[in-house]
Amino acid sequence: MKELSYLNKYFSKYKRSVIFGVIIVILAKIFSLFPPRLIGDVVTIVANQLENPVSVSVFKKKIALKIIFILFAAIITGIFTFLMRQTLINVSRYIEFDLKNEIYEHYQKLSLNFYKKNRTGDLMSRISEDVGKVRMYAGPALMYTINTITLFIVIIFYMYNKAPLLTLYTILPLPILSISIYFLSKLINKQSTIVQKQLSALSSLAQEIFSGIRVTKSYVVEDKMRNDFTQYSVSQMKKKLNLSKIQAFFYPLMLFLIGSSNLIVIYIGGKQYISGQIPELGIIAEFIIYVNMLTWPVASIGWVTSLVQEAEASQKRINEFLKQKVDISSTENLLSNIDGKICFKNVYMKYEDTKIMALKKISFTLEIGKTLAIIGKTGSGKSTILELVGRLHDTTNGTIEIDDINIQKLDLQNLRNSIGYVPQDPFLFSDSIENNIKFGKKDAICDEITVAAKKSAVHNDIIKFKDGYRTVLGERGITLSGGQKQRISIARALIKNPQILLLDDCLSAVDTETEEVILNNLKSIMEDKTTIIASHRISSVKNADKILVLDNGEVVQQGKHFELIKQDGVYKELFKKQLKDSDKL
Ligand code: ADP
Ligand code: MG
Repeated sequence: MKELSYLNKYFSKYKRSVIFGVIIVILAKIFSLFPPRLIGDVVTIVANQLENPVSVSVFKKKIALKIIFILFAAIITGIFTFLMRQTLINVSRYIEFDLKNEIYEHYQKLSLNFYKKNRTGDLMSRISEDVGKVRMYAGPALMYTINTITLFIVIIFYMYNKAPLLTLYTILPLPILSISIYFLSKLINKQSTIVQKQLSALSSLAQEIFSGIRVTKSYVVEDKMRNDFTQYSVSQMKKKLNLSKIQAFFYPLMLFLIGSSNLIVIYIGGKQYISGQIPELGIIAEFIIYVNMLTWPVASIGWVTSLVQEAEASQKRINEFLKQKVDISSTENLLSNIDGKICFKNVYMKYEDTKIMALKKISFTLEIGKTLAIIGKTGSGKSTILELVGRLHDTTNGTIEIDDINIQKLDLQNLRNSIGYVPQDPFLFSDSIENNIKFGKKDAICDEITVAAKKSAVHNDIIKFKDGYRTVLGERGITLSGGQKQRISIARALIKNPQILLLDDCLSAVDTETEEVILNNLKSIMEDKTTIIASHRISSVKNADKILVLDNGEVVQQGKHFELIKQDGVYKELFKKQLKDSDKL
């Protein structure tokens, strides 16, 4: 229960509903005692009528009165039961809602590092399955526990008063029921977890097959894929059949144990009535009903115990996530207007998980409104530099300053809001083009969207689609070419009108002519703003105010294009090679 104590803050948030619910449960249980008593009375009246008859009309009246009381008590019990579920189960739904939001909020704050370490499937299951299991603790488990305790105390107390010995015999099989249900529930839960795991494996497989359908078809491996799928589904089916077999034990076992209790009541009760130890025949009828009333609560002890164990395990996993420190946050939350001067001072960057030293001794200053280009082979560290500016990671050593203030002191949101970042592999949502472009500026008007699209030279492509800017992308819509995706991604950054623009190799899939157009457009927009372009193409970087040539995480050359082509070095080699390649075309 240590882990589950995390939920106490929520219980106290909803304490009024919880207390109200508990009172209702107790009332409901007290009222549910009346019908059996009244039924017992009816049996006694009938038995007496056989021995010492009264007039038929008096007899009928007596019975009718009892029946009215029975109905009345049943209705009140019904109302209380309704209220009980409405309060306690609702509280569990509220807690589920709050917990989901809390986890989601926390997810949003965690850094890329966290997302690298944890698979998406795990993140999803924390928020859906685990929260669901915890809800079972906060709602049903709590409700049934109070239910069982109240009912037990009330019924046993009452039964014991009427016939102590018979009570003892009657409740004898109940612990066996409780314990066997506990083990059965555990088994069922274990099997359900296996089924659940199999199901997610199956759906991941299906998802991969569908998203890689082009590869599947072009390599003609449909048969192999089908076999894989069949294998998974056959094993899934077997696991499910296994589960049903165990579940099938549940009811017969319960019925068997209730039946035994009933038999004991009738046998021992009958003997005691004959020997005169029990005064009324009605008591036997009453006891039979009590035994049946006790069965479900007793069975639920076993069930609830396994629910709580499951919830504890789930909450432990949730807590592990919630305890993850937000490793990138602002030290001073400085909210200054960002002008865009960027300065790297002896920056080292090592990726802790792979132990790769991605950047070494990087120093440069970029004045407001200037353009810096970074060129280098794949893996030379270009993307890392851009990600550091947006604080997607923190430096291992050295400092980064923006407007002469250490980047760590700046308010994170404010910093990121002033940056237009176009990542290396553009990500577009399964939504309309329009919504994808105005992603970073929700209130953008139509004009702004078209202007941004024109600047990134994608407007003409968009209007050719039947639905224009309303065209839906992705799973439910059309697929764009790599170059189109890149340009929409650039439009998304431009519409923010950012003070700092970071372009990560985002023109690689665009032909050189369009590249020229976009770069020219950028020049006019970014006049008083700062731009960093990472690329492996000379054509993208040649007009920059400053070029850094990166190799293996280190700056090997820097300067302007015309200076660099004169020096012997990586840049000149690259230039010659790319010139030759373009001649070949
Ligand atoms: P570039 O953009 O020039 O291709 P990157 O900055 O992406 O280079 O990568 C620099 C080095 O850091 C590479 O060796 C790469 O494998 C490594 N690297 C990049 N991103 C990560 C990451 N998230 N985790 C671990 N290593 C990384
Ligand atoms: Mg890169």
